[in-house]
Amino acid sequence: MLNKNWQVIKKITVSKAIKKVLNGRAMFLNKETGELFEYNDWIKNGVSTKTVRFGTGQIPKPEFIVLMFYAGIGMRPIPEDPRISRYNIFVRDEGCCMYCGCKLNWGKGSFTYDHVHPRSRGGKTDWDNIVLSCHACNHKKGDKHLHESGMKLRGLPHKPDAQELRAKSIKMRQQIWKQEDREIAKFF
Ligand SMILES: [Zn+2]
Repeated sequence: MLNKNWQVIKKITVSKAIKKVLNGRAMFLNKETGELFEYNDWIKNGVSTKTVRFGTGQIPKPEFIVLMFYAGIGMRPIPEDPRISRYNIFVRDEGCCMYCGCKLNWGKGSFTYDHVHPRSRGGKTDWDNIVLSCHACNHKKGDKHLHESGMKLRGLPHKPDAQELRAKSIKMRQQIWKQEDREIAKFF
């Protein structure tokens, strides 16, 4: 098991390693190419000389896992003209629900996007109409307009420039590293 700086922390069993990846706390590493894989990606595209039994099937035997940031969000390059994407919206909204402000974890299914002007009523998937939302708030708002829902936005959705996204992604990672260091400390 390697930490976020790819330094070896310690040996763990293969099944523990797989569980950490499944929990979103780590990724499999192909040490030849330096590629990182999430679980489903590893099943399909992982390369290993051996396989190992896990659950009901066989999966490529992992040799290394790299611990991810606590929220499971990695660092991605942000181009000069950031396009609207899952990752970029998450960074713009600093991983917080824009209605209630709760902290959201990066990972499939742990958060949603809300169309402020509901899609069912013609709202577009644009920077100024999409916000990060927890499931509860998204459900509460449903397909209502903001004023009908009685809910408030914590900030106006806008198209960020690269500078804003880069600054926020650094800030978010620093917070996550602090959390991750506490996680890692538990292993010793
Ligand atoms: Zn919320």
